Amino acid sequence: MATKDARERARRIRAVVLDVDGVLTDAGLYYSARGESIKRFSARDGFAIKVAQHEGITVAILSGRVAPPLRARLVDLGIDQSCVIQGSRDKAADLRLLCDRLSITPEEAAFMGDDLPDLPALAVAGLAACPADAAAEVRARCHVTCTAPAGRGAVRELIEFVLVAQGRWDTVVAAWAAGTAGPAMDSRVAGRTGGKNER
Ligand SMILES: [Mg+2]
Repeated sequence: MATKDARERARRIRAVVLDVDGVLTDAGLYYSARGESIKRFSARDGFAIKVAQHEGITVAILSGRVAPPLRARLVDLGIDQSCVIQGSRDKAADLRLLCDRLSITPEEAAFMGDDLPDLPALAVAGLAACPADAAAEVRARCHVTCTAPAGRGAVRELIEFVLVAQGRWDTVVAAWAAGTAGPAMDSRVAGRTGGKNER
């Protein structure tokens, strides 16, 4: 479900900023007996993140929690540490901070969140989005409410929405269908995560 102006807003997007728990994950917090937390991510969301990066859209993380398992996943996804804020207590201020770092305006950022702490950042972002199972108060304020739930394709749906609005999705699909997209994207992702940028 999308508001009338959602597509117009999506045309301006240069960065997609994501909450973690209840967006990239299903909001489950798994703990081992030793107290280590374990998170489950969607490979399809991960693929879409790599497609977005390949299309020149920055993917950034804005989370209220600090979670060690997240770091390994972010390295996999080629998300630079400069695009990650964990332990945020003021998501609107931190969204603006991320935009400053990326030299973009908040209107050029999409933000996906799922619960009340995300409301201030959703109000700041040019495109506010949430998974299907987000809190009702969040769904009521978003430009895009995905049909997929958190941790099961909602991020993929948002990225597709943005690339469709920007007229780029068909080209992405055609490149994959023709078998020409994979190697180019892999080398770019490997260059980001395996090189000296790794921290
Ligand atoms: Mg959340």
